[in-house]
Amino acid sequence: MPKPSRGFDGLVVKAWRGRDYRLTVRDSRYVTDHCLRLSFDTGELLDHLPVHPTMWVRLWIPNGRKLQQRAFTLVDPDPRARTTDIEFALHDGSPATEWARAAEPGDTIDATVLGTRFTWPQPDPSGYLIVGDTASLPAINSLLAELNGIPARVWLEWQHEDDQKLPVSAAPGTEVTWVQRTDAGAGLVKTVEEAAFCARGRHAWVACDTKTTRRLVGVLRDRYQLDRKAITAMGYWRP
Ligand SMILES: Cc1cc2nc3c(=O)[nH]c(=O)nc-3n(C[C@H](O)[C@H](O)[C@H](O)COP(=O)(O)OP(=O)(O)OC[C@H]3O[C@@H](n4cnc5c(N)ncnc54)[C@H](O)[C@@H]3O)c2cc1C
Repeated sequence: MPKPSRGFDGLVVKAWRGRDYRLTVRDSRYVTDHCLRLSFDTGELLDHLPVHPTMWVRLWIPNGRKLQQRAFTLVDPDPRARTTDIEFALHDGSPATEWARAAEPGDTIDATVLGTRFTWPQPDPSGYLIVGDTASLPAINSLLAELNGIPARVWLEWQHEDDQKLPVSAAPGTEVTWVQRTDAGAGLVKTVEEAAFCARGRHAWVACDTKTTRRLVGVLRDRYQLDRKAITAMGYWRP
């Protein structure tokens, strides 16, 4: 059987000098019926890279005879133990879901590091406005864990009832609102639009599907008068 190919994505990542690593599955457990957490040995991945909140890698997921790169967030990366977890938001028609469900201890997957970076806003904002969903919840939890007492208001979109049981690293001063995904994300946009908060001095971090993310950035700028520099936004998946 020919080796699955990385195709055009592989060439691009190589041209940008992405660094390749191999992860080995240690363990897997369901957090909910729609979230699967895998633990990995990281090999050399964490040996030279400083760990930062929202840190992510490109996993090369098998899809037929091809490999497709998909971004996943490192959960509790531990450079000393050379381990990390990754939480997969499970959904239909997803090669990543298929791979994660079938993964067993000893299985390997390649990961490329390219593009992950993080800087805290300077000076500290008076508070954070965070909008995401189950795909970005691992990144959001890594942010919430390091807010050092700065208050945050968080909106999370759910698609399955049990999504709301997912752990959120909310310290005192963090207000979390779960919003059901309706009208391809329009329900979440409307909820944030109607929340009527004062955004002065705050920093927003937004990561939903690409379209919803764009619309939320528009709301934060137009309705809440947030400067573009006070908004960090990235589409996490394509609807
Ligand atoms: C920086 C970054 C970090 C990320 N971290 C994580 C993470 O830790 N955990 C995680 O689960 N995801 C994470 N994501 C999102 C993940 O990369 C995408 O969801 C990706 O599309 C998953 O690939 P797939 O094989 O599941 O589906 P694809 O082959 O990309 O798409 C197949 C189908 O699934 C649909 N789909 C894709 N994602 C979702 C979703 N979340 N909900 C509903 N339908 C979907 C698509 O619209 C399409 O119809 C991250 C994305 C980014 C950019």
